[in-house]
Amino acid sequence: MAGIDIEGLATVYPNGVRAVDGLDVHVEHGEFFALLGPSGCGKTTLLRTIAGLEPASEGRVRIDAVDVTRTEPGKRGVAMVFQDYALFPHMNVSENITYPLKVRRVAMATRTATAERTAGALSLQGLLDRKPGQLSGGQQQRVALARAIASEGKVLLLDEPLSNLDARLRLEARTFLKKLQRDLGITTVFVTHDQAEALALADRIAVMEAGKLRQLGTPREVFARPANTFVANFIGSTPMNLLPGTVSNPNGSRRDSDAVGTVSVTGGLLPATIFSVPSGAEVTVGIRPEYLTLATGDVSGPSLRGQVVVAENLGTQSLVSVDCDGTLVGVTVPEEDEPAPGAPVVLTAPASRVLLYDRESGEL
Ligand code: ADP
Ligand code: MG
Repeated sequence: MAGIDIEGLATVYPNGVRAVDGLDVHVEHGEFFALLGPSGCGKTTLLRTIAGLEPASEGRVRIDAVDVTRTEPGKRGVAMVFQDYALFPHMNVSENITYPLKVRRVAMATRTATAERTAGALSLQGLLDRKPGQLSGGQQQRVALARAIASEGKVLLLDEPLSNLDARLRLEARTFLKKLQRDLGITTVFVTHDQAEALALADRIAVMEAGKLRQLGTPREVFARPANTFVANFIGSTPMNLLPGTVSNPNGSRRDSDAVGTVSVTGGLLPATIFSVPSGAEVTVGIRPEYLTLATGDVSGPSLRGQVVVAENLGTQSLVSVDCDGTLVGVTVPEEDEPAPGAPVVLTAPASRVLLYDRESGEL
């Protein structure tokens, strides 16, 4: 079972930068695992440390239950695709794909067969004699992937493999990569700074900030329930509303275990499922624009009142900005329900979608 175990891992560069700063992560066998975070948070360094291209300063890496922390890169059973593909310009596609096999002194006939089979799987037939300079960006990217797959590693490490492609090609390559990974069933760690890419591709996502893990979960979990305001800000194609609020009625009127209380924010009240937060506690209220409902008439229960400022077209949906007593709140509505600027509106949300973060720490 070629899982990856990362335990207390730190990578410190000679200049003192702790690029990876104490990480514990387990990647399951066959999993498509995304490392997501802003530029400079340590994603590439973590990948290179797993591959053995950077020495671990603390902690250990196990692949397939074997401690490889001090094992040289070529003997770890990993295949890596670099952000710039790192193809050999003087070799043709076939030679590029089979280079790792040549290094291992695999026979010529086997190499040729592997090149043809892998090229077939990655739609590169007919290009085997070309040099990288004669290929499009998408084709070069597939050659880099083919080379990694042909090396028959137990683990595939991909560093922003789609970032050099233009928008349309990137979407096609994304679908292709997802299908390929599923067909091969190979344990894959995929680095990206693009939250939409991570949500679309990964079985689970590790969100990193400054060398540390901020949340680990399925795309659904990190989207619906960000563990802190950093993740809340980073995930989602429309920004999550983060509003200063005060717990006004922690227990509400019900006494059962999922009692619904209320939290007051500028413009009104929102319902929230509140455990162990006292009345008067200052919080940051997190709610996604997708989970708010916009109404024009009267509504019952806790709600926010405001005035429409602008609406932005998102395709079939519109993102409406509502001024709630000086605080802007975003809400998505079906395009045909888009209200006119200046219209008075009421916003409501189910208690289960209203998240309360500690005002100081930003944690749930
Ligand atoms: P990411 O891939 O998430 O953009 P990196 O792993 O490339 O992040 O970089 C993490 C941090 O380590 C950054 O602060 C970067 O400046 C620093 N860094 C990266 N490579 C080196 C290096 N070879 N020497 C010193 N510092 C480095
Ligand atoms: Mg990087």
